[in-house]
Amino acid sequence: MKRRTFFKTLGAAGMAAAAGAMPAAASEAPVQELATLFDLSRCIGCGACVEACREANADRYPEPKKPFPPMLPPRVNAEDFSDRRDVDDRLTPYNWLYIQSAVVQYNGREVEVNVPRRCMHCQNPPCAALCPWGAAHRLKNGVVSIDSEICLGGAKCRSVCPWSIPQRQTGVGLYLDLLPRYAGNGVMYKCDRCLARLEQGGVPACIEACPENAQTIGPRDEIVAKAHALAREMNGFIYGEHENGGTNTIYVSPVPFELLNQAVETGKGRPHLGPVKDVMGSDDNLVKAALAAPVAGVAAAFLKVRAGMRSEGEDEKEGRDG
Ligand code: SF4
Ligand code: SF4
Ligand code: SF4
Repeated sequence: MKRRTFFKTLGAAGMAAAAGAMPAAASEAPVQELATLFDLSRCIGCGACVEACREANADRYPEPKKPFPPMLPPRVNAEDFSDRRDVDDRLTPYNWLYIQSAVVQYNGREVEVNVPRRCMHCQNPPCAALCPWGAAHRLKNGVVSIDSEICLGGAKCRSVCPWSIPQRQTGVGLYLDLLPRYAGNGVMYKCDRCLARLEQGGVPACIEACPENAQTIGPRDEIVAKAHALAREMNGFIYGEHENGGTNTIYVSPVPFELLNQAVETGKGRPHLGPVKDVMGSDDNLVKAALAAPVAGVAAAFLKVRAGMRSEGEDEKEGRDG
């Protein structure tokens, strides 16, 4: 790419990034904020949704280059699931949805509950507000997505996410072309609620595949109303409506989430079900987000241009090799 074209593209991309941060223009068609409802009394833990997610997203999974460049400082560890792609009992870069199971005693009886886990798609997501490179962002339809073309894998999104959802794969992405020993360490991956399908008027693959109709998608206010009606009907409990200031993933369970949280296995790639305060409600994080936003917008624009140059280079190489 010529120098002048480079700066012209950077300018246009910067303006686009800035426009993305601005409120919707009056002439734009309103986009509805969508949420999903999980009726946990219906989920039988069959895993059809997990399989469907893996099939639907297989061509977006990372293909890392090995050996990985050594990182500085050396305490930065490579994270590599490329030889363990079949792991499906936790979140990984190759598994964006898994089923958590719990057996609890409640009201004098034993109850088994299965909880499909993935990104919660928060209404005010710290992963997007605090990403220093503008790679994570929230869309008006309520989806929170990470742009794998420009993510450098520094994992800020995971460290600020109250459920530590995004998962890193080393040896892939733009950091390899920039500063492989210093900048980030790969790319972060997570559920984007099948954004491409949604944009074409479809539904996420996991919802389509569920034989029990355990999950529903719709405008958030309708989903919240349905969740409350369902909770009243089953004398149950709600998780996700207010956690982290509100999310677009609402679970309704026949047993309290405190009990589920004690019973499920948690740890790396296995998120908890405990109470969560609004991370972006703290003054400290609001200031950090306000300071990061303009820098992140410009960084995202620059990285987009670099990503474009990278794919041009790869196409040329393929042309020569082919
Ligand atoms: S759950 Fe975590 S990764 Fe998902 S939108 Fe919320 S903060 Fe971001
Ligand atoms: S919405 Fe799409 S990406 Fe997210 S868990 Fe379901 S199938 Fe996977
Ligand atoms: S496909 Fe439906 S019933 Fe099966 S594990 Fe997923 S949500 Fe539960």
